[in-house]
Amino acid sequence: MIETSTKPSRSSYDAIIVGGGHNGLVCAAYLAKAGRRVLVVERRHVLGGAAVSEQVFPGFTYSVCSYVVSLFRPHIMRELELTRHGLHIIPLDCAFLPLPDGRFLLPETIAVED
Ligand SMILES: Cc1cc2nc3c(=O)[nH]c(=O)nc-3n(C[C@H](O)[C@H](O)[C@H](O)COP(=O)(O)OP(=O)(O)OC[C@H]3O[C@@H](n4cnc5c(N)ncnc54)[C@H](O)[C@@H]3O)c2cc1C
Repeated sequence: MIETSTKPSRSSYDAIIVGGGHNGLVCAAYLAKAGRRVLVVERRHVLGGAAVSEQVFPGFTYSVCSYVVSLFRPHIMRELELTRHGLHIIPLDCAFLPLPDGRFLLPETIAVED
């Protein structure tokens, strides 16, 4: 069972993981699956570390750092049943980089366009 709280609900754990980035969360999930009592402590208000998606502007959820799933092993997704728990991979059809002067970059062209 996953609980999120500002205070731990127990006084003892088999493992304490400092940092709720995706590596910490994967370790915690495997340990919990093996029957261990695990505490994950995260300093931010949200889990995910550099792989987090956050609502930076109201109504606009954005990958603030990592933006492609390149290093995450598919067997971990299967073993932890991440799709059943809400993981939804969105194919990266294109990317768009706006520039401060109003121009933009599109990877297909590599060129800066107006
Ligand atoms: C600019 C950039 C772009 C990237 N793009 C991609 C990409 O597109 N695709 C990809 O696969 N990988 C990408 N990576 C790599 C990927 O982000 C990392 O491999 C991955 O985030 C590492 O996960 P982690 O859980 O080890 O650490 P992190 O994601 O860094 O998570 C660490 C967590 O620990 C918390 N923490 C730290 N210290 C403490 C403390 N003392 N107490 C409590 N909590 C603490 C932090 O707040 C954070 O939530 C990118 C990395 C960078 C920097």
